[in-house]
Amino acid sequence: MTTAKAHCARCRIPKAEKICQNPESGRAPDFCPTIHYRDIIDTVTARYQAPAISEFARLASVQEGECYANRAPGPYVLQPVKTRIQETMEFAAKLGCKKLGLAFCGGLQKEAGMVADIIEANGFALASVACNCGAVPKERIGIRDAEKVRPGSLETMCNPLLQAEILNREQTDLNIVLGLCVGHDALFLKHAEAYSTVLAAKDRVTGHNPLAAVYTVHSYYQKLKRQP
Ligand code: SF4
Repeated sequence: MTTAKAHCARCRIPKAEKICQNPESGRAPDFCPTIHYRDIIDTVTARYQAPAISEFARLASVQEGECYANRAPGPYVLQPVKTRIQETMEFAAKLGCKKLGLAFCGGLQKEAGMVADIIEANGFALASVACNCGAVPKERIGIRDAEKVRPGSLETMCNPLLQAEILNREQTDLNIVLGLCVGHDALFLKHAEAYSTVLAAKDRVTGHNPLAAVYTVHSYYQKLKRQP
């Protein structure tokens, strides 16, 4: 049971009746952040006026709208038309990005090359860095032999700080994360200076589709909620 004053994931109010969708007459559950954090809504939203954020945020929402076809006033059934990689490149173009960065997992070397082909074919310059860049042995961060993927062999560490610093020095305008491990992605996102967006989240079992396990948690992935 949560004690959080913000728990939107548990909200079961129909979308059109939620207070966050309908500020005039919408309803809110006990754990609604729109209610509990009312005191910070204006001050935090004012931060969008900062020069580094305002145009970025505006264009992100413009891009969001453009990902649907045949929009017009009145009732509308969503008609999504753009893949994420198309969305990413269109957004980068809107921002005026000239040079993109690609921080990828070495396990997705082939995919990184394919993504690079697409990005460069669309007129962007690209710098890309694999996670094992730098060839630093895992022992350097205290990993014991038994903790390696293949005990008994030399393994170079995933080095998201180095990926971030290299892309910082390459002065990329926007970074794209491709398949970095959980945790390594967090470190990269924290230390990259340019904004970063995620093209794909690594999932070793589902072909990098983490929601596949979530969608089947009621059937084949019951083990995620129930131990035998
Ligand atoms: S902000 Fe409130 S009404 Fe909106 S989803 Fe979260 S809990 Fe539900």
